[in-house]
Amino acid sequence: GLTTRLQNVFSKLRGKGKVSDEDVAEAMREVRLALLEADVNFKVVKEFIAKVKEKAVGKEVMESFTPGMVIIDIVNKELTDLMGGSQSKLAKANKPPTVLMMVGLQGAGKTTTSGKLAKMLQKQNSRPLLVAGDIYRPAAIKQLQVLGEQIKAPVFTLGDQTSPVEIARQGLQHAKDNGNDYVIIDTAGRLHVDEELMEELRQIHSVVNPDEVLLVVDSMTGQDAVNVAEHFNQQLDLTGVVLTKLDGDTRGGAALSVKAVTGCPIKFASLGEKLDALEPFHPERMASRILGMGDMLSLIEKAQSNIDTEKAKEMERKMRNAEFTFEDFLEQMDQVKKLGPIDQIMDMIPGMGKMKQAKDLKVDDKQMGRIEAIVYSMTTEEKRNPDMINHSRRKRIATGSGTSLAEVNRLIKQFDEMRRMMKQFSDMMGPKGGKNKAM
Ligand code: GDP
Ligand code: MG
Repeated sequence: GLTTRLQNVFSKLRGKGKVSDEDVAEAMREVRLALLEADVNFKVVKEFIAKVKEKAVGKEVMESFTPGMVIIDIVNKELTDLMGGSQSKLAKANKPPTVLMMVGLQGAGKTTTSGKLAKMLQKQNSRPLLVAGDIYRPAAIKQLQVLGEQIKAPVFTLGDQTSPVEIARQGLQHAKDNGNDYVIIDTAGRLHVDEELMEELRQIHSVVNPDEVLLVVDSMTGQDAVNVAEHFNQQLDLTGVVLTKLDGDTRGGAALSVKAVTGCPIKFASLGEKLDALEPFHPERMASRILGMGDMLSLIEKAQSNIDTEKAKEMERKMRNAEFTFEDFLEQMDQVKKLGPIDQIMDMIPGMGKMKQAKDLKVDDKQMGRIEAIVYSMTTEEKRNPDMINHSRRKRIATGSGTSLAEVNRLIKQFDEMRRMMKQFSDMMGPKGGKNKAM
């Protein structure tokens, strides 16, 4: 997939002590291919690559401490921008009810998304009314009613013999009469965009004057989804997009192109069939997800502004050469502490979070204090040669630090593991000069 391909490109970049213009050009060629393969609109890809190149070939990048990371950071920021930059919130009417009109092709997920949105709004203490405006698809009304029952939200319907325009009009009035602060109008879709469907949607639009016209698109359909979005937008003035089925085997193309092509922000992402599988869309999180880095990038940003680079360089050299000792460990802890609460830092490092769960490791700042006490109770020699800490030394250290033998044993065991983890972390941060073939 896209993520794997991009990770390969970047690991090549990171594997280089110095990054040349050719390296960047080569990486950009591969990013371009990866995006095209992920079904991103080719015009979007072209502009994207141009922007990244412009920023990446600068002198500062080449001469920076971690050129590979800087380039990844540039790509990450541009990906985020491509998807709208920051989170785009749902509009709210000055005078309730706020009217949300759901549009899109058949099977895109309009009806289920209507239910999910209603549930989300209920959690925010709102009282949404669902309006069953699809009279064509067999059982569409029933489907909405079942969803309504599940979340205990009222569903307005006039059956399938009244026109959707009239249903929408009366539905809105019903909401006003009953104090519903949101109206979610589910509409019909077609298998393809057609004029009749558009005309009906335009009529509903003019009758209810919606605060949001949300286009629901199936992200699995890639560029087709984007074409559909463009077409709907020409006809209806969309205010936002809901991307569904992001839980599936999507190649990412729709998420990456839809904003650039239509100018419409993605407001929500749906990641499953369950009613709570809807979330506000965060461009920056999606970009990190595509890059497969989790919160790694924000950690790197923090690290870059907080960590003493000279010390970090030295530390890395030691880790690479397996010279890392308990003395370094203490120093490293000091540096890490500057980044914030330790358990949060752990969660940001890929692998660490999992290790924490798997080993049921509880690492908090208090725990850190006990660990430090143990290390301070070691002699300088012991700190420098952890392997020499035998049973009797361990007992002495436990007594000296006011901890137990078990705790000392555990720390020494974890130290070995941590050495490996930190090495992994340092490899991820990129080599700071020199060869890096230790992994
Ligand atoms: P509509 O025709 O646009 O109203 O689409 P529906 O709401 O009826 O959804 C069509 C199908 O897609 C249903 O089986 C939904 O359960 C499924 N679906 C909708 N959203 C998602 C999603 O985010 N993930 C997955 N896996 N399935 C979804
Ligand atoms: Mg439907």
